[in-house]
Amino acid sequence: MANLYALGVGEVDTDFQRVLIDRETLQRRIAEMGAQISHDYQGKTIVLVGILKGAVMFLADLARQITVPSEFDFMAVSSYGQSSVSTGVVRIIKDLDHTIEGKDVLVVEDIIDTGLTLAYLREVLLARRPNSLRVCCLLDKPGRRKVAVPVDYRGFEIPDEFVVGYGLDYREMYRNLGEIYVLSPHVYKT
Ligand code: 5GP
Repeated sequence: MANLYALGVGEVDTDFQRVLIDRETLQRRIAEMGAQISHDYQGKTIVLVGILKGAVMFLADLARQITVPSEFDFMAVSSYGQSSVSTGVVRIIKDLDHTIEGKDVLVVEDIIDTGLTLAYLREVLLARRPNSLRVCCLLDKPGRRKVAVPVDYRGFEIPDEFVVGYGLDYREMYRNLGEIYVLSPHVYKT
């Protein structure tokens, strides 16, 4: 395994095919998203619902770009069955700490792939009668969508490649990286 802590943007490392989105581009886009969200939620308090663990980095940076009052809450979900294949059957591992009834909720997701996880989450959260429910995702792979899900704020559309870094993992690794990388296929096989 490469020494991840010594890895810098642009350096060639065998675990990664390439940097897909560098630090500066990520942060610039997140600032734009925060400004848009702050504008749209003027006079309101937002409940930011981060989906663990992938959205942690994104939520932390996005929240600091939001100028309206906000609360944080978190949910952790996992797909049943094989981890690499999204089935749409989702298990809630950690539920929200607080009620969202009557609140303005913004779901903060790392990446939308098939859309199955988010479609399920929306159903669960809508049943709890929030005042409003919107979705914000950092990355979107529209080419892989199996169910249509409304996405209100989208950071980047990306191609159908497996990415890691900035909260996203492969077997719990690489979450701490500050950029988004395309993982080399040989890593899956080891
Ligand atoms: P969906 O239900 O939309 O297919 O799945 C979304 C979830 O799949 C994401 O929250 C994430 O955990 C995982 N996922 C999808 N694509 C990728 C990817 O390219 N890299 C990583 N690390 N996780 C992914």
